[in-house]
Amino acid sequence: MACHNCKLGDFRKENNYKIVWGEGSLNARIMLVGEAPGENEALEGRPFIGRSGKLLRNLLSEFLNVEKDVFITNTVLCRPPNNRDPNIEEQLSCFPHLDTTFHLIKPKLILTAGKVAAEWLSRITHKDYKIYQLEEAEWDDVWFLWLPLYHPSYLLRKPTEKDKFKATLKKYSKIIKKLVR
Ligand code: URA
Repeated sequence: MACHNCKLGDFRKENNYKIVWGEGSLNARIMLVGEAPGENEALEGRPFIGRSGKLLRNLLSEFLNVEKDVFITNTVLCRPPNNRDPNIEEQLSCFPHLDTTFHLIKPKLILTAGKVAAEWLSRITHKDYKIYQLEEAEWDDVWFLWLPLYHPSYLLRKPTEKDKFKATLKKYSKIIKKLVR
């Protein structure tokens, strides 16, 4: 499908980029939502496969079977120019895809990576968030737990933050294990 519902579609076409639909099993109990595909992701059509993506996958795999338990996507499915944040119009154009994914998966837990994804989910759920604070949230009568995480590119810039990231996942690991069983 050649989506041109927003300007990111034109940018994708000009650069021969792919739509990054998302990756993982539809039986996954966890949905991971990042900000937007970067260049590596847009070239390959897969989310979180660049440097920061590899770090995130590695950190998560200490606690989870990422391939089996996590469906990975982003607030928009096409790469914004110069890695800028996707704007609200672009997120709104993409929302039907994310809404369909959410309703297919009905995740028990959503992990958001970074502020852009956290604010996106905050608008959908009408809920405030605090990084590393696990909360209940609701999207169209579907209840789930929401754990807002820092974006892995921040962890690359500030490696000492990796310990806090790991400590948070460790703190909630019993709950997470129960959810994916
Ligand atoms: N950053 C994101 O937010 N998403 C990706 O898929 C890759 C990098």
